[in-house]
Amino acid sequence: MIRSVVQEQKVIEYELQYKKVKNINLRIRPDGTVHVSAHRLVPLSVIDGFVLSKVPLIIKAQKEYANKPAMLPEPFFREDEIRDVICKLCEKVYPYYEKKGIAYPRIKFRKMVSRWGSCHAIKGVLTFNVNLMYAPLSCIEYVVWHEFTHFLQQNHSKKFYEELEKVYPHWKQCRNRLKEIQLR
Ligand SMILES: [Zn+2]
Repeated sequence: MIRSVVQEQKVIEYELQYKKVKNINLRIRPDGTVHVSAHRLVPLSVIDGFVLSKVPLIIKAQKEYANKPAMLPEPFFREDEIRDVICKLCEKVYPYYEKKGIAYPRIKFRKMVSRWGSCHAIKGVLTFNVNLMYAPLSCIEYVVWHEFTHFLQQNHSKKFYEELEKVYPHWKQCRNRLKEIQLR
């Protein structure tokens, strides 16, 4: 879930993930986004307080990352190819969802820094990050299955991953591989 804390009129957004960890862990990605993991039993006020205590560090790290020259990895696909690659994958995975009564979605493309894709289940829209051109095909396919699966489960619950497992068993390797791709 996305949360935010405010210090001296500066809003710091962070993504909170519940994990079976002992401490509260905070990570600042090179794109400047803040990721926090904590155990489910830790009260939100404690987590917010922890993030607040790290605000100076977060701002410093974000500035440092912002000043670093962009170092993009070697692309796997050209920018004019990637839309086509994704559309073809959508056509490939769709029959599975068609059987479940899902209408063919509108496919949109955007350049994004913090996510590979998104699903607007009610509007029937899937949005894919053009930066997937920096990912190998298996990872792009994973993102396509992932976003389509959101038509069945609009969250990242256990059920969601059970559905994903059925259609793309090596999703975990792909997800980890994607995490290695730094877009700046
Ligand atoms: Zn998702």
